[in-house]
Amino acid sequence: MSSKRVAVLGSGPAGLTAALYLSRANLPPIVFEGIQPGGQLTITTDVDNYPGFPEGIMGPELMERMKKQCERFGASFVMDEVTEIDLSKRPFTLKPSYSDPVEVDAVVIATGASARYLGLENETRLQGHGVSACATCDGFFFQEVPVVVVGGGDSAMEEATFLTKFASKVLVVHRRDTLRASKIMQERALKNDKIEFVWNSEVIDVLGTDKVTGVRLRDTTNGSERDLECAGLFLAIGHTPNTSIFQDKVYMDESGYVVPTVLGRTFTSVEGVFACGDVQDQVYRQAITAAGSGCMAAMDCERWIEEQEHATG
Ligand code: NAP
Repeated sequence: MSSKRVAVLGSGPAGLTAALYLSRANLPPIVFEGIQPGGQLTITTDVDNYPGFPEGIMGPELMERMKKQCERFGASFVMDEVTEIDLSKRPFTLKPSYSDPVEVDAVVIATGASARYLGLENETRLQGHGVSACATCDGFFFQEVPVVVVGGGDSAMEEATFLTKFASKVLVVHRRDTLRASKIMQERALKNDKIEFVWNSEVIDVLGTDKVTGVRLRDTTNGSERDLECAGLFLAIGHTPNTSIFQDKVYMDESGYVVPTVLGRTFTSVEGVFACGDVQDQVYRQAITAAGSGCMAAMDCERWIEEQEHATG
């Protein structure tokens, strides 16, 4: 067993896969689970696109299974969030909210990204019951029913286009009368007969008792309100990477996504710090791609530690 200590920050598919691979490489890490143990999958229901589960699996169960698999090989879990980190010298110091600070030789950042929501009470209440921020995950459940997509960027166009495979009609509700999305994505959506645009409108409430039955809209030009019937509400108003504690410490792009220093690898601008999952991915954002990059981060980390040990004899 190596004497080197590794911390994994985050417990979604990226963090847990990194923890699994590190454990099996005799580097059982300490995993800080964060404020949403299990990550974004714990707020979805059926997961039908994770290979190996022909009948599908519930998001929380998939994450529970991944965690157990990590524990089997020695990873330890702390139900806490790291709120301060000193990456200026090694060992690195991590300060969690409630537990004692720890010193580690390497860090795997797997803190993910959070889908932005509108912040409406009924939107939160009906999450998983018609409200979703992932068409790829949940679109299949909306066969031959009308759905609403909120947003005017590339994500909204992509989600709306994808949802036309299932829904009877996709209504894109956008707060302005021009789209932010790239020309090609706009054109694709505008040409699609199943997509209708509802311009200058914002969703101010989500209707339904046990499941979504509609949304209340407000016209942004004159303030008038009206209800729109739909069975699903998909938010596509952007994601926020959970990187605030790494600000000015690890190189990021202007949106706050960690940028790897070597294309296709998981090294960050700080030696000994690796990043995987949605925290460095604006494009794919899938459980399986996050898991894959978690494996890559663990392997990069293990090799880096090996080199360190070799260099110091
Ligand atoms: P985005 O470009 O930031 O667009 C967010 C959209 O949501 C904007 O239209 C914005 O309206 C709207 N919005 C934001 N907050 C809102 C609120 N509170 N209420 C109502 N509407 C709100 O985000 P994104 O579409 O997720 O794209 C993020 C990045 O990923 C972009 O760089 C995009 O190009 C990239 N991306 C690429 C692809 C692809 O190439 N296949 C697919 C998806 C994403 P306003 O326009 O009025 O600000």
